[in-house]
Amino acid sequence: MGYLKNIGAIAKGMSITFKEMFEPTTVENYPDGKGPLRGAGFQERFRGLHVLQRDESGLEKCVACFLCAAACPSNCIYIEAAENTEEHRISGAERYAKVYNIDYNRCIFCGYCVEACPTDAITHGHGFELATFNATSLIYRKEQLLSNVAAHNGANAVFNNSDSEKQRSISGAVEYSQTASVETNKH
Ligand code: SF4
Ligand code: SF4
Repeated sequence: MGYLKNIGAIAKGMSITFKEMFEPTTVENYPDGKGPLRGAGFQERFRGLHVLQRDESGLEKCVACFLCAAACPSNCIYIEAAENTEEHRISGAERYAKVYNIDYNRCIFCGYCVEACPTDAITHGHGFELATFNATSLIYRKEQLLSNVAAHNGANAVFNNSDSEKQRSISGAVEYSQTASVETNKH
């Protein structure tokens, strides 16, 4: 009777195969699809390239407390802190991150840095096109990670851009930072 049991198991397996044959086919035409994701599909919760956030005034949320670097199991966050002054204000607190690098050769996208951050300055965005032939280009600088819009304006939904768009985004962030600094100094 053992062989009858085996035939039953095979029939059950094949029924699933046949059922799937009549399901509509889902194709993601990446990288030639439409939209900012170029046809790729992933969930909202996807942990991609990090985004350094700004507050409502345009100031950087990072206060250079080093907690993210301490929490990182891959030791891939490098920060240099500097003091804000009246003339040169970058963040809302005493200190700001003058240098903030993430080495994506080592990052495992675990999200511990995001969990550790007391000011919600670092979040995971949706950037996913990190592949490169040059390992040194996987060390992302603050200027590449910094959002050019405040977090409440949806800065977390930052997708990968083409190089020219990314460059525009970087110069936009620098301009935004300078404008925010001037605006803050006026007060
Ligand atoms: S996601 Fe994990 S590995 Fe990557 S920088 Fe954050 S803590 Fe480090
Ligand atoms: S990103 Fe957050 S945890 Fe990391 S140094 Fe800045 S404020 Fe601290």
